[in-house]
Amino acid sequence: MKELLELRVDYEYAHLLFKEDEGVNLGDSIYGPSIKVVKIDTHSPIFEEVGKMDKYIREKYGTFFFAGWNYIRTYTKKELADARLFQMYVRKYFEPTGEECGTEYDESCACKLCGAGRKQISPLRIKKGRYLNKRDVAITIGGEIVVSKNFVEAIRTNGIEGMIFGDVYIGKSKSEDCFQLMLQGGELDVSEETIFGVNPYDFSEKSPTEVFKCPNGDNLGLNIISEAYVKNCTALSQKDFFISKQTCGFRSGLLAPHHLMFCSPKLYRTIQENHLRGFNFEVAHIVD
Ligand SMILES: [Zn+2]
Repeated sequence: MKELLELRVDYEYAHLLFKEDEGVNLGDSIYGPSIKVVKIDTHSPIFEEVGKMDKYIREKYGTFFFAGWNYIRTYTKKELADARLFQMYVRKYFEPTGEECGTEYDESCACKLCGAGRKQISPLRIKKGRYLNKRDVAITIGGEIVVSKNFVEAIRTNGIEGMIFGDVYIGKSKSEDCFQLMLQGGELDVSEETIFGVNPYDFSEKSPTEVFKCPNGDNLGLNIISEAYVKNCTALSQKDFFISKQTCGFRSGLLAPHHLMFCSPKLYRTIQENHLRGFNFEVAHIVD
């Protein structure tokens, strides 16, 4: 596995570690670049240097060296062929959320400390939009996942076990073209090897106002930093799609803690072979 960390570095400070022609400079023609996007190897010395520079910039100027970040993990054909489990991510986010469009939730069952565990109690309602344009899956910033009819048909004809789909209402009418991928019945126990944090250099478990790592054990942190590790269980040999028992994220406005999604090699191959677009995959590890 090759692991790169993509960083959106504040252009004002970028020259402290990066050359002018390194990465991609983003900005406008009037004010010039404001962000430098770089990809660094997490096993190279520059990875630690970015952490030190971020600490220095925070202490000296009270601001950040980098804002956005994203891990890019790529695998050899053999690593993909040998994998027993994959973690799945949805690439495309869209708004407004289902919650804003009238989807009902029971918040009474949510954890009072971290907000994990609310229950959706009505069909998903969303606004008309082109979020599935040229792709088969998209997710709202509230964690509600919409998939294409094509996706549902491929899942059904290939005998995939464990994916449940719900109706989607656009305005007052039930959609014939898209469905909700339901995230219910969290089964996989996330193992302690999995690293959570605020970002790749900050492993704070809470902020002055928010609890990221919940003492109740339901929410594990703000973001997943490492690849995912889960404990072995019988469900792994019985189904193709799983969600974690625990969540990550935090409750703030329309954002809500979300479960991690996992799939079997069979579901991974079905998505690849049917050219279903919109998911990213990482190898996940099963701990005995
Ligand atoms: Zn909690």
